[in-house]
Amino acid sequence: MLLWFSILSSVAAPTPVDVSIRDSIEASLGRVIGADAPAIGNQVARLLRWKGDVIKNVHPGDKLKLLFERAPEPELVALVYSGSEIDLRAYRFDDADGISRYYDESGTLIEPWLLHSPVDGYVQITETVQTGRGKRRHHGLDLKAPEGTPVLTPFDGVVARVNWGSGRANGKCLEVTYENGTVGRFLHLSTVEPVAVPGAKLEAGTRIGAVGSTGHSLAPHLHYEIRAPAGDALDPLEEHGTERAVVAAEKRQAFDVARRAFEVALTGVSATTAVAVPGPADLMGPVQTLQTIQ
Ligand SMILES: [Zn+2]
Repeated sequence: MLLWFSILSSVAAPTPVDVSIRDSIEASLGRVIGADAPAIGNQVARLLRWKGDVIKNVHPGDKLKLLFERAPEPELVALVYSGSEIDLRAYRFDDADGISRYYDESGTLIEPWLLHSPVDGYVQITETVQTGRGKRRHHGLDLKAPEGTPVLTPFDGVVARVNWGSGRANGKCLEVTYENGTVGRFLHLSTVEPVAVPGAKLEAGTRIGAVGSTGHSLAPHLHYEIRAPAGDALDPLEEHGTERAVVAAEKRQAFDVARRAFEVALTGVSATTAVAVPGPADLMGPVQTLQTIQ
């Protein structure tokens, strides 16, 4: 596994895990990795959810192989999920903006990319709108981003209210009524901009605050809701629209090198075998690099 040190510049090689699902992902992981299972199980579920329902479509006998780092926080590095209903490969990779996100084998971001996002360059959608039975009710989209990242109003609108309630649940918060009558709600902010006072007209792209972790929040993120005029929670992914994002062209070769290293580590086969895997001719450059690194 020397490849890890060269390609990923990690301080420690990621820990490989190979489990057969028996019940839930977290419980199955727990039998192998113990205390790190809740964090890693949650990160696995965040990716699998884009391929299916992680309660209904995960079945006993499904296979999960993954690599994760224990420090500074447990973090998923790569996974292969081979299930009866869900198949997914995901690799962590730093794209051109320097942010680590998870891509599939074709270099496509696992999750849909939110258009007109209130947070430019967010890291990950860590929670979606959940209203179904047996699920934790969640009326918005959680966008993970570092504390202090600017929050922008995605559409033209008028500020409806600021810092309502006790602040205990929502923390610092803001509501903007968009021109189509729907209401954008921004929670857990670290700061609210002075321009964002009730009645203020704001153009799309105006900075209204910054990402924080105030109120009921465990880590910096923006909780973003859209409410219909009657109050029903709408899905921001549908209201805003999404696109498929891919690794930047200038990072493509580096991605392919990293992906091959991940595949070697995940399958446990020798690097020689992995290099022999047929691929498009334009990927042969990275293979040379892989051999050189060895
Ligand atoms: Zn939330």
